[in-house]
Amino acid sequence: MFYDSRYIYGDQNVEVPAHLNFGKYILDRLRLMNNEVALENGDTHEKLTYKELTDYAVNLSISLATIGVKKGDVVAVGAEKRLEFVPTVLAIVFTGATYTPYDLKSGRAILKHKLSITKPKYFICSNLFWSSYKDILTEFDCIKYFITLDEATDQLLSVKSLISCKNNTNHFEPPAIVQGQTDVAFILYSSGTTGMPKGVQLTHLNCILNSLPNDFKDPSLHTAFVYGEWYHNYDTFMTYKFLSAGKKVVYINEPTLESFLKCVDECKVDVAFLVPSIVGFCSKAEGVEKYNLKSLKIIYSRSSPLHSKIIEIVKKRFPGLQNILQGYGMTECGEPTSEIWGIKGPKSGSVGMASPGLIIKVVDPQTNKILGPNQRGEIRVAGSVFMKGYMGIDPSTYLDEENFFKTGDFGYYDEDKYFHIVDRFKDIIVYDGYKVAPLELESILLTHPGVREAAVVGKTVPDYGEEPTAFVVKQSSTSVTDKELVDYVANEVAPYMQLRGGVIFLDEIPRNTRGKILRRQLREMLN
Ligand code: AMP
Repeated sequence: MFYDSRYIYGDQNVEVPAHLNFGKYILDRLRLMNNEVALENGDTHEKLTYKELTDYAVNLSISLATIGVKKGDVVAVGAEKRLEFVPTVLAIVFTGATYTPYDLKSGRAILKHKLSITKPKYFICSNLFWSSYKDILTEFDCIKYFITLDEATDQLLSVKSLISCKNNTNHFEPPAIVQGQTDVAFILYSSGTTGMPKGVQLTHLNCILNSLPNDFKDPSLHTAFVYGEWYHNYDTFMTYKFLSAGKKVVYINEPTLESFLKCVDECKVDVAFLVPSIVGFCSKAEGVEKYNLKSLKIIYSRSSPLHSKIIEIVKKRFPGLQNILQGYGMTECGEPTSEIWGIKGPKSGSVGMASPGLIIKVVDPQTNKILGPNQRGEIRVAGSVFMKGYMGIDPSTYLDEENFFKTGDFGYYDEDKYFHIVDRFKDIIVYDGYKVAPLELESILLTHPGVREAAVVGKTVPDYGEEPTAFVVKQSSTSVTDKELVDYVANEVAPYMQLRGGVIFLDEIPRNTRGKILRRQLREMLN
């Protein structure tokens, strides 16, 4: 692709090992460490050192190979968060096979859907996963072996009995013959807030690029907290970045604000990878003073937008906090932009500058015209971090004529080439011909002291299109009324953006496991 001055380029000189084998890349880095802690459960303080993690992964990999696992096979993992999760995934990758995760919490319909896309041959699960979904799993004939991370049962072979301590782990190497640009190491799933999840195929090269530690190599950072599940691109690759850098990764089983704060205190976390809903709770939670949070230097937020006012409030509440940084990420291509790369430092409200290896353009989707600074349009990305493709979906439905990925996100870059996400295209409300971004209204609502959570969607009305309507969860100590909130917003916005559809109070905003608002459900409640 020729240089085009209308595109925004991240650094195009990224160094990767010539073997392009993700298993070898990660194993070489794990072996640089020894008895230092690699993973810690922040609830129980159970730990795995680098040596234990490597031995487990290599041993299991050799054992999987002896039962036939090889390049070309799909091996699934379905389990709650636990210490064995990461080395089990690595064991699969070391065999040259393709790993795919199934989420314990995503529910039966989504599990069936994902199984029908990826058709695994081997299924490694926990007994909890098995007892929750046994009936579905046994319906799928493609699965030839079930293996449990726990004790063996009549139907499940146990990893514990499979692993042989006699394996010679010291000289083990993952298979040398991997076509890193085309062989698929991981199949993850897009989050599916608007439809069923899609299978996202990531090659070995994609996984290496997603795991390079260079953006977090600051020697003053030792311990990272990863909020989410290892089913998702964000948590998965932030974990590998930190392990590649020889640092410690801490997780908790059921993350809540309280358990997060406790974990920062007890594990002396210095960088926390969170989602905006938890950062938002941090801004209003009571009892933050109970914990010693001085170790926390950086909060990193990704997955959905984080409002600059929330950033200001949280900064004041955490005594050692130097920065709250945002990244704009997606399963299909890692992190197209991040404030880590901001040459002028973080810019409140932005998602930073283009990441290494990425090329970005902003396009008017109606005319296909490439837009300049401060012009809002669809963000489209290309580069070697971009996935091999969705499973079973025609690329012409998601790539444009220049092979850029149509993200469906509406945003712009400013005069310093910092990107700003305005909203998802599909979520934009059209009222009387005007475009209203729900996120802008939610951000304003969240600045009201009586509002704990807010979600805005359009209510269909004859002649005008859709009226912006808010769903709000109140702070427990407040008696704020719907009229007060409608007036509060009206004071801050243009007339066409007012909450004409009113305010509806809920006990909880429906969200997916990533904390993203399930707007479709809210629209169904309204319309
Ligand atoms: P997923 O593939 O599940 O990670 O979802 C990717 C989508 O999340 C993107 O296309 C965006 O719509 C949204 N997203 C991720 N990070 C941000 C962010 N910092 N600000 C706004 N939206 C974001």
